Amino acid sequence: MPPFDANTLMLVTAVFNGFMALVWLVLGRLFRIAPQASLLLLAANLVSIPGLYCPGCSRLWPAALGPWMNELALVISMALLALGVRKLMRLRFRFAALTLLLAAALLGSLLLSSQGHAEASLALLSLSMSALTLSACRDVLVGRATGQPLGVTLLLSMPFALWSLMMLAQALTLLCLPQWRDWFLHEDIPSVPLAWADLFIELCIGISLVGLVVARLIDRITHMVLRDSLTDTLNRRALRGELRRLQAQVARGQHHCLAMIDVDHFKRFNDQHGHACGDAALRHLVQVLRTKMRALDLLGRVGGEEFCLLLPHTTLADAQKVAERMAQALRSEPLQWQGQALRMTASFGLMPCLQDDPLGDKTLAMADGLLYRAKALGRDRVCAEAPEPQVAPR
Ligand code: GH3
Ligand code: MG
Ligand code: MG
Repeated sequence: MPPFDANTLMLVTAVFNGFMALVWLVLGRLFRIAPQASLLLLAANLVSIPGLYCPGCSRLWPAALGPWMNELALVISMALLALGVRKLMRLRFRFAALTLLLAAALLGSLLLSSQGHAEASLALLSLSMSALTLSACRDVLVGRATGQPLGVTLLLSMPFALWSLMMLAQALTLLCLPQWRDWFLHEDIPSVPLAWADLFIELCIGISLVGLVVARLIDRITHMVLRDSLTDTLNRRALRGELRRLQAQVARGQHHCLAMIDVDHFKRFNDQHGHACGDAALRHLVQVLRTKMRALDLLGRVGGEEFCLLLPHTTLADAQKVAERMAQALRSEPLQWQGQALRMTASFGLMPCLQDDPLGDKTLAMADGLLYRAKALGRDRVCAEAPEPQVAPR
């Protein structure tokens, strides 16, 4: 079999990019998965095609501008790729920085090209592509989903880092090492090794981007399965899982606490101001409670207007201080609803996590009992109880 020449390899890369454009079209339009990011990535793939393979292009613009136009298509494709990755990672666009980079690269390279510095012009475009893919690489690392293993993130960011390095090497060679130019460019088209490297990295970038979409989907599904949609606290299933985990630590001698929290006279919010006000009251409660929580504390919605707070590595005395602070914060921060300040209070039943209670059922039931005692005593208070003393085995 004859070895592939650079043109054939670039044609294969262009066909692959066309296929990836189709993938983004199907994902974004048909399945509505990351629609905006998919649209940007679709455009990135389409724009790259004339940069890689455009048999009729020489008739469209002067021959001297040929390589510049090809690189220009690739630079715009990289800019769209960088934007697509940013959107995929749910990071805010930085249009000013991107526009500045693109304007500097395009105007600079056009100026250099028109003055006869073709190599410097191509080097400038390569440098801008290196910067764009480096930014995509950084975004993959920064925007990693919670719970995604670092190794997977590093793997997914690798193709962008590779591309960035390759473009940097190409720019430096064009500027400083003309004797190595053949490694990158042969006449004005990529050399065979560069065309192979292009194809390989484009394949890896395509796989990596699909991997990022899958990671995003897993993240969203996990979120939907484990969080309460109204208050974005843990749902009952997640809460039970966390409680089981803490109870296992209690068995090994750790001290944790648990509080059941119930809004006082919550029905009045619904009855007097409507269901939307009741929903806003629940979100307000969570927002106020969170101001008094540490990063490791966990809040879950057990149902209706009843919440459960897990306070890991906390003594009962400290947990009581936290609960009192929460009750006070609720008292002093009424819900603002349609121009009115609606007073909101809650009752707390506080328990240290019990020994010999692997599922936490006994602890939960006792905290519930204390919560009802708080209600019976007049609401808007914390009722806490120490566990019965453990009888030492004889
Ligand atoms: P208490 O002080 O004794 O706790 O009185 P309460 O009115 O808070 O208690 P009750 O349990 O009788 O009322 C809870 C109400 O919460 C009943 C239900 O309609 C309402 N509710 C449950 N879930 C939601 C929700 O997601 N949104 C809204 N707006 N209301 C809800
Ligand atoms: Mg209530
Ligand atoms: Mg209730």
